[in-house]
Amino acid sequence: MVTYRYRCERDGGFDVRLPIGTAEPSARCPVCDGASVRVFTAPALSLGSRSLIAAIDETQKSRDEPAVVAAPPARRRRASAQVPNPALRHLPRP
Ligand SMILES: [Zn+2]
Repeated sequence: MVTYRYRCERDGGFDVRLPIGTAEPSARCPVCDGASVRVFTAPALSLGSRSLIAAIDETQKSRDEPAVVAAPPARRRRASAQVPNPALRHLPRP
């Protein structure tokens, strides 16, 4: 289904949802039942939310201009030294 826009001279614009390619050059106004002409508008394309667009932009930026690394990543502790339960983190260690 595609949204087609029509304009009534008296009542203004209104939308009609029809299967693609089935729009007539004129339609009946839902308010006054008068003849209305079809209006061509930009397609309603959207990439999504602002956060999604920001994530896509950041991904493309990191691909084209990767961040410069000044030092190797910090060494991690050995797995045996880590405590799996965060509540036990403050207990004394041997
Ligand atoms: Zn009308």
